[in-house]
This record gives sequence, C-alpha cells and structure tokens, in this order.
Amino acid sequence: MMQPEATDQTPSQGTQATFDVEALRAQFPILARKVNDDRPLIYFDNAATSQTPQAVIDALDNYYHRYNANIHRGLHSLADEATAAFEGARERVQRHINASDKREIVFTRGTTEAINLVAQSYGRAFLERGDEVIISMMEHHSNIVPWQLLAAERGVVIRVIPVTESGELDIEAYQALLSERTRLVCVNHVSNVLGTINPIQQITELAHAHGAKVLVDGAQGLPHAQVDVQALDVDFYAMSAHKVYGPTGIGALYARLELLEAMPPWQGGGEMIQLVKLDGTTTFAAPPHKFEAGTPAIAEAVAFGAALEWFEALPFAAMEAWERQLTAAVEAEVNSIEGARIIGTAPGKTGVVSFVIDGVHSQDIGLLIDQFGVAIRTGHHCAQPLLASYGLEASCRASVAPYNTLEEVATFGDALRRVVGMVRG
Ligand code: PLP
Repeated sequence: MMQPEATDQTPSQGTQATFDVEALRAQFPILARKVNDDRPLIYFDNAATSQTPQAVIDALDNYYHRYNANIHRGLHSLADEATAAFEGARERVQRHINASDKREIVFTRGTTEAINLVAQSYGRAFLERGDEVIISMMEHHSNIVPWQLLAAERGVVIRVIPVTESGELDIEAYQALLSERTRLVCVNHVSNVLGTINPIQQITELAHAHGAKVLVDGAQGLPHAQVDVQALDVDFYAMSAHKVYGPTGIGALYARLELLEAMPPWQGGGEMIQLVKLDGTTTFAAPPHKFEAGTPAIAEAVAFGAALEWFEALPFAAMEAWERQLTAAVEAEVNSIEGARIIGTAPGKTGVVSFVIDGVHSQDIGLLIDQFGVAIRTGHHCAQPLLASYGLEASCRASVAPYNTLEEVATFGDALRRVVGMVRG
C-alpha cells in the first residue's frame, strides 16, 4: 500500500516537516467530491468522523464479496475465514494500543457503548452508595451520562475536575478531589472541543495512589496519540473506529483482564455463554466473549483492523507536524476576524479549533459556510457542561485531518470572512 512519505517540500515553512498530502488525499475517494454548486468539498469536521481511505473501503467490500458468514459457530470455510478475520482484527487492536492480551479487547459499537459497558457492568457490581466517580468538565456527554445513570440508580456521587481558561484540566483541583471514597476516574485522552491532550499518565498515577481505577475516553486519543495502555497504566480505554479512518458502528473497550474476569455480563444472548440451562445455572463465556452478546458488526470489525493497519503505516511524526501547521493556519484565519475568540489554547493541542464570533450565531456560520463547500460543526459538540463553563451554548468547530491542505485553510478563511460580512451586513 502506498503511503505518503515525510518530505520537506514547503520552503516557506523553513525546516518544518510536511508530508506528501496529495498522495494521502488520493487514497480518499470522497475528497474528490463536489458539494453545493460544484464547490470542492473542504472537510473540516474530522473530530466528528474521519473520512475513509480506499484500503478500508476495500476491506468492507472484500468481506461481503468473499467471506460473509457468521463467526465462531460455523464449521464451514466461510465461517472459518470470517472468524479468523474478526479475531485478527481484535489482535490488531491489541497490538495497536499495546495491550498485553487479546482477551483484553472487547468489541463494542464505539466509545459510547464501551463506557456504558463499564458503567453497567463494573459500576453496578463494584460501586456502592457514597462511592465517588471523578469525571472532568471537558467530558463528552458519553462520559457523563452513563455515570449519572449509575448515580441515580446506586447513589454513587459524581465529582468534577474543573478546566482552566486555556482549556486544561486543573490538576491541583483534581488532587483535592481524590480521597479514599474515589473508586473511578473517568477522563478523555483528548478533548473533542478544546483539542487538549490530557496528562493521562499523571492522572492515572494519582488515581492509583488512592486505590481508584481509571477509565479513559479515547475517542479522540486514538487518532492523535500513539496509545500504549501499558505505559499509560490505565484500567479501561474506550475507542471508536470511525474517528481513526475506520467505519461507523464499531469500536472497542480495552480493560485489564483481571477486571474483565471479575465483571458480570451486561447483555445476555448468544456468544456470551458457555452453557445455558433453564434452571438458571447458565455459565458465561470467558472474556472478551462474555461481553459480546449476539452477532457483532463483523465486517466493520475487520475494517477497523484494516484502518489501524493503514494508520500505522503513516509517518506519525511528520503527520503530527503537518496537523500542527494546519491547526496554526486555521487559528490564524479565525483570529483575523474582529470579535473572534478561540476556545481551547492549551500548548500541544490537536487539530481542533473551536471558536465563537461576536454578534454572529454559530449556527448561521455553519449553514452559510457550507454554501462555500466547507464542512464544519456547530452546536454544543455533546459537551454542554464544558461550553456552559465558558458561558456559551454553542460554538463553531473546525477540525482538521492530515489529508487537509493549506489551500483549503485559505479558502475556509475567505469563506468565513465573507459569511461574517454577510451576517454583520
Ligand atoms: N468521546 C469523545 C471525546 C468524542 O469526541 C466522541 C464522539 O464525538 C465520543 C466520545 C463518542 O463517540 P461515539 O459516538 O463514536 O461513541
């Protein structure tokens, strides 16, 4: 598979590395699309979902063309092939995040389902009235609401780490929240609104010193970090394939094996049992199958594995440098507008630029800029408490991926200036 190489092709950027973005773009059929009166698509909504390279589309296509069958139970050739591909994808996820055992990878529909699995299984079995779960102000609703449901049912208490003006977790406040009552700390690796990369190792060390477990929402971490769950020393790590160039409807939960072994199932059905008896002495399968009731998204899991394989072949450092360059360019365009304010200015942040513009409603910007072919996101980004902490109900969010170009950023800037001019009159 041809992958872009790190080059140094932008003399105006001095020694800054960039990479062959055109070779990368060529692998994404959708990027050739036109929208709204033949305007080239400028896709800046990558934090919501990333686009899909041909290698991943081929993996889906190949599955349905060649070996579509149900897994684990069949004795025929196709069932064998599908099972091998599905379990191979599990091993790919395991290697990608450096988990020590493939049984530590449970396929789910995505990050949301992975977090709900932990809340419903681990939470219900091991948390009691008065136990505390620490989350942060910058969480996606998927790392807030499952804990609220548990709190309502079990009397668990939720504590919240505040966020500083620049969009970083207030670590001192976090330390003050930790106590012998803390059972679980649930934070995101990378914020989908601020782009902040959180110090997971430090958070984990502090939590473990208090005997608490750590769950990381890795939805935005997987595409932006070289995740190593052993180095991070986390207990749970939740992922979505569609944020890392894979298909929708599939993701995974990493959990330490001893935790998965101790946790009860959360959904019942086929695949998750060893023996079913009507007198109630049903015995459950071992992890990870204990948590995978019913026929899973087989093609999507296989394509998730293909996406990770594809992603691993990219030159990570050059890609990161390119994304930083794109992010700085987007920020410069936003800052060129009078009355613009960027939310989230933490050092080393990823390619997410959330902003508001005085006197212009975010929704109007989103709708009008689409007329220029530019796809950005507007609204609360499933992080209403975070926006509220900045005194906001909504913002615009432009989020870049390595297949974006500086020319696209310039077009975005022109379009944004025109949109703001139109609204302000
Ligand atoms: N957490 C974060 C930080 C996210 O950005 C998202 C998706 O936007 C999610 C969780 C939820 O992911 P999914 O909808 O794939 O379950």
